[in-house]
Amino acid sequence: MENINKIRNFCIIAHIDHGKSTLADRLLEKTQTIKITEGQMLDDMDLERERGITIKSHAIQMEYKANDGQTYILNLIDTPGHVDFSYEVSRSIAACEGALLVVDATQGVQAQTISNLYMAIEHDLEIIPVINKIDMPSAMPEEVEDEIVDLIGCKREEILRASGKTGEGVEDVLEAVVNRVPHPEGDNKAPLQALIFDSVFNSFRGIIAYFKIENGTIRKGDKVKFFNTGMEYDADEIGVLKMDMIARNELGTGEVGYIISGIKNATEVKVGDTITHVARPCEKAIAGFQEVKPMVFAGVYPIDPSDYENLRASLEKLQLNDASLTFMPESSVALGFGFRCGFLGLLHMEIIQERLDREFNMDVITTVPNVSYMVYDKQGGEKEVHNPSGLPDPTMIDHIEEPYIRATIITSCDYIGPIMKLCLDKRGELIKQEYVSGNRVELHFMLPLGEIVIDFYDKLKSISKGYASFDYHIDSFRPSDLVKLDILLNGEPVDALSTLTHRENAVAFGRRMCEKLKDLIPRQQFDIAIQAAIGAKIVARETIKQVRKDVTAKCYGGDVSRKRKLLEKQKKGKKRMKQIGNVEVPQKAFLAVLKLD
Ligand code: GDP
Ligand code: MG
Repeated sequence: MENINKIRNFCIIAHIDHGKSTLADRLLEKTQTIKITEGQMLDDMDLERERGITIKSHAIQMEYKANDGQTYILNLIDTPGHVDFSYEVSRSIAACEGALLVVDATQGVQAQTISNLYMAIEHDLEIIPVINKIDMPSAMPEEVEDEIVDLIGCKREEILRASGKTGEGVEDVLEAVVNRVPHPEGDNKAPLQALIFDSVFNSFRGIIAYFKIENGTIRKGDKVKFFNTGMEYDADEIGVLKMDMIARNELGTGEVGYIISGIKNATEVKVGDTITHVARPCEKAIAGFQEVKPMVFAGVYPIDPSDYENLRASLEKLQLNDASLTFMPESSVALGFGFRCGFLGLLHMEIIQERLDREFNMDVITTVPNVSYMVYDKQGGEKEVHNPSGLPDPTMIDHIEEPYIRATIITSCDYIGPIMKLCLDKRGELIKQEYVSGNRVELHFMLPLGEIVIDFYDKLKSISKGYASFDYHIDSFRPSDLVKLDILLNGEPVDALSTLTHRENAVAFGRRMCEKLKDLIPRQQFDIAIQAAIGAKIVARETIKQVRKDVTAKCYGGDVSRKRKLLEKQKKGKKRMKQIGNVEVPQKAFLAVLKLD
């Protein structure tokens, strides 16, 4: 067991791309936890590497011989940087006593800097501000220092400067962790109380849960219980996390470790749950546990109907290591049999889509994402609806509520006007406007989540030329005057294209949908009528004129290989098509709503 006074548990919080992973690598190098290698060590999933986002948090232990001659155990708990995973961030933070607040010297404080900082302050963490990327010619450390002083009210001397690239200042960071982060507290003799802050799936060993011991001691072979699920297990193996798992016989209060107990399914291990002993349980679970609920839903359908069972098997496999993915069988008149999948947010949805494609080679059609709605009927009943086409008969509905978010946007003053317009167009309400420093402003809006999942990020990015950072948290469900807008192709309603939209915008929205679908659905050998309807009332119409399709005619005879290439291309394009009645509809069309101007 380690001496509690020599343990430091800390995390790094930062806005995306401010250099968290790079700095973490330097800390691991400096403490000789890893050998110097190319690339980054902490993000091990391919996908993570490509996107540069740490999707799942990890923990790693370093030993550091400080300037005082003593050796310390530093547990670095990595936190995911994206808002979709904010609950995981909050649990990782809860396992720490300190946080390095990393701010890019060229970018300054951004939206996620602030939201992560608030979370760290809520958990009483010691904050160590670090200005990173000071090697860059465009670094403005003085200005960024001002922003940080304004933000957290610290002294200038408390702010460190570092470069994850050159390694400058990294030693100071380690010294600050040792000297400024308090050691964990707790009672080694008390009943076991360990916080699960993360879990990973290992195909040989099953689920490995990561925990931090708040009180008590755990030994290999102990009978343990997970407080919130009530499930009991044997602690087959416990240990600490270095570059590999290092098994131990005993871990004490303040330590961070892992437990392997033969769990096969990620849904049994809930982040935020408390591990205790069966024989001598703690009285209370560690506070703050929360069931993560998916907020964004979309239909996922196999292109080839005979792939349905394969798709189910793939989703089940994905769920083994991603407890926040949910799915239920669903059928659509237009698309046949598929699944309604629930995601934490848009990024989570994209990740699942990509994994289905890459790891399982599944060709799927995904429908427009929507949020979950609470529908109240006239009898006083309530129902959560995850799909616009599942809405009850409008005459039975008393009212509908939709989730609202509280959004933080940090931008340059030059873009306040257009951003304000965008948010108001999205039914947003400005709650707060504050100047951060110099020419930058922090805006707070209440916005319907349903408007954000559609095309908000892209629009925000383009109107601010990339100079706006955005972060949000779910706030509450609020009543909204929503109506269902249906799309008909040659008179047939296509359920997969139905959306819920605000009554005031519905007609204009229907018109834009029809125009967009006209662009996206290729001409066929007959006319295609596209209509938008609210109930029985048609509110917009477009027609796609017929064409005799003969692409090879463009090739002026001769070149056979070119002709063949074109045919191949056409065949490929067909792959992601779905036959609806007699109309061939490409995948793009099911996401038309995401592309409205
Ligand atoms: P994260 O999203 O916060 O984990 O950021 P990363 O560590 O992935 O870094 C984002 C980008 O900034 C990468 O291209 C890094 O190579 C680069 N970067 C990180 N730290 C530094 C630094 O100190 N100096 C310079 N010049 N680039 C850096
Ligand atoms: Mg990273």
